[in-house]
Amino acid sequence: MSSMMPDVKEVLITSDQIEAKVREIGARITEDYSGERPLLIGILRGAVVIMSDLMRNIDLRCELDFMDRHVLIVEDIIDTGLTLSYLMRSLYARKPASLEICALLSKPSRRRADLDVKYLGFEVPDEFVVGYGLDYAGSYRNLPDICVLKPEIFE
Ligand code: IMP
Ligand code: MG
Repeated sequence: MSSMMPDVKEVLITSDQIEAKVREIGARITEDYSGERPLLIGILRGAVVIMSDLMRNIDLRCELDFMDRHVLIVEDIIDTGLTLSYLMRSLYARKPASLEICALLSKPSRRRADLDVKYLGFEVPDEFVVGYGLDYAGSYRNLPDICVLKPEIFE
């Protein structure tokens, strides 16, 4: 068990649930991009954990690079969506063959930009979450579960 667990108020999504979901999304991507060689673009730093697991669940030749191809953006969480909508616009300008989004988490109640997320892991309530790549002040990215921290941690 993680030594950071005393800071955790609640586990929202367990590492087992995440593992199953990432496997499922990987299988969908494998089927949807059959015959293609997609380019996975992970948004640093939070997407580093899902990127590492996701690419090992995609049974295709794929790359992590930046060229105009079948581009799949991999993100940890979409909150307002403003970050990704900006990025999507600048990637579209480079005329990729296709451009889709894969996000582990989404907070739909906070959305301000209209985004079509093709591959979504889980919807979460409007709470600040950490773990599986997501940080608070740089820490907690290595928690295996998606968690809500105790309020005193933010004081
Ligand atoms: P957006 O532009 O509001 O969608 O911002 C999304 C970015 O904010 C994510 O890539 C995260 O880096 C960060 N973020 C949003 N909500 C959370 C959260 O609950 N925990 C950790 N980071 C978050
Ligand atoms: Mg981020």
